[in-house]
Amino acid sequence: MSLPRLHPRTIEAVKERADIVDVVGEHVVLKKKGREYVGICPFHDDTSPSMTVSPAKQFYYCFSCGAGGNAIKFLMEHQRQSFSDVVLELARKYQLPIETLDGPQQERLRKQLSRREQLHRVLTLAAGWFRSQLRASEGAAALAYLRDSRGLSEATLEAFELGFAPDRWDGLLSHLQQVEGLGPELLEAAGLVVPRKGGDGFYDRFRGRVMVPIKDRQGRVIGFGGRSLDGGEPKYLNSPETEVFEKGKHLFGLDKASTAIRKDDRAVVVEGYFDVIALHAAGITNAVAALGTALSSQQITQLCRCCESRRLILNFDSDGAGVRAAQRAIGEVEQLALQGQVELRVLHLPAGKDPDEFLQQHGAGEYRSLLDQAPLWLDWQMEQVLEGRDLARPDQFQQAVTALVSLLGKLPQSAVRSHYLQRVAERLSGGQARLAIQLEDDLRQQVKGQRWHGRSQKWEQPGEAGLRERAEAELLRLYLHCPTHRVAIRVELRQRELDDFALQHHRLLWAAISSLEEDNLGVGRLEAINRGSDSGLELADLDLPRLLADLLVVEGDPLADLRVLQDQGAHIAMIVKDGAFVKDCLS
Ligand SMILES: [Zn+2]
Repeated sequence: MSLPRLHPRTIEAVKERADIVDVVGEHVVLKKKGREYVGICPFHDDTSPSMTVSPAKQFYYCFSCGAGGNAIKFLMEHQRQSFSDVVLELARKYQLPIETLDGPQQERLRKQLSRREQLHRVLTLAAGWFRSQLRASEGAAALAYLRDSRGLSEATLEAFELGFAPDRWDGLLSHLQQVEGLGPELLEAAGLVVPRKGGDGFYDRFRGRVMVPIKDRQGRVIGFGGRSLDGGEPKYLNSPETEVFEKGKHLFGLDKASTAIRKDDRAVVVEGYFDVIALHAAGITNAVAALGTALSSQQITQLCRCCESRRLILNFDSDGAGVRAAQRAIGEVEQLALQGQVELRVLHLPAGKDPDEFLQQHGAGEYRSLLDQAPLWLDWQMEQVLEGRDLARPDQFQQAVTALVSLLGKLPQSAVRSHYLQRVAERLSGGQARLAIQLEDDLRQQVKGQRWHGRSQKWEQPGEAGLRERAEAELLRLYLHCPTHRVAIRVELRQRELDDFALQHHRLLWAAISSLEEDNLGVGRLEAINRGSDSGLELADLDLPRLLADLLVVEGDPLADLRVLQDQGAHIAMIVKDGAFVKDCLS
């Protein structure tokens, strides 16, 4: 179930009501110091109070790790919740009316929320029972499998709350009915039992399986993965989609990994539950699994929320199937990687190993050094194209060129494309400098979107710089103050490959705008709008000038932003505030 979009009135009311000192003070012991408060920062290993909370400015800021923002941002980071979840919870806490953009739906919303809470409770009770069964006599083989074959310690079994579903038709069903007094309909809604054919009663979905609870970002049980012990098919059986478990929305292990992802500033994405468990057991705690074949934009958004540099490392099995899985897993990340919005790397383990096997044989140290060397996704793709091709043979050479041209043709940013054209040419020429230059020219002709070269040169002529600055500023002003033109501007910018602005302070402003829009619409949506495949009507609803003004004061790393803005402040302030001028021009 996805929550309806909240009405801006509700968001405003929450922002006004939620006092930063109250909100932070619920999670951090705050001491008054002058006009501000200080406390131990919960976002890094803090020993002396590094976090300052300013009631006047309504923001918090940590001088050690740079965490900072308003009350909502604090809760998003601290509770690992989405913007809407935080606003909704605060609205309920302060008893503010909850309005959605679909009209007054408070009643429906409240019912949905209490239903979700019920399902979480049922799933938590089931997880507890599965755990107890692992220690019962029926669970002996499962326990031996986890300890001996998987080499998992007692601490790891506990940390991941692993359990066992006995090979009975009604083990869980009768326990939850008789001991907890729960009705079978609720258990069915939680994905735990299946109705018998003929409609007479229910039976356990998971039987004779090692049970791995799947949790959401806040650590609530939302479903299970069950691995068969006796070779029965399927080897892995997952919970079906339910009101609390949506495929493509959750990442296995994120509840445990998010702090490490933040500290390490990168996330490792692997294929299976036991890869995540093995990595965490080996101390590599920034690992998660995608719970499906492809990474969705929602999953990427969640990872990027923990990871400032948006660095994702995919580690899939290195056999043929694993390489295909990596290609599939790239899914929606590909577009974002091409845009330079995420830094996607691929870790290819040697000799057909999965992370679990590799760790058992080589240890965590070697795994870490491979992580550090993991190539960028595009380099990896290029290697895949070249691997196994004999470039001395004309037909294979031509195949490689065709594949590389289509790969490079997807790159929207001219600077990156140019860089890779050179690399590819060098690689194909086998080190012959003159051939490389010829090849580069030839490839450039073949790669689509040729206009980059002429245009960027033109803009870079001395007399043109002022013109470009004025044009960019004008465009940004238009974008901010004439909301109905936003979609058209985005599409046009993308088509003309102009969406990386030339001037540093324009790029900064554009990044701030895009990140605000992403927060409201989601990363995938904005990219779809750029490509022209999404009408993006909601873009016009955002009060960007005001949101930006808020952002400049309370969000992110205020000190870093301010340093840049000190130089460019007047210019940006003019773009943000001076809307009347543009409206006059258009009317
Ligand atoms: Zn900190």
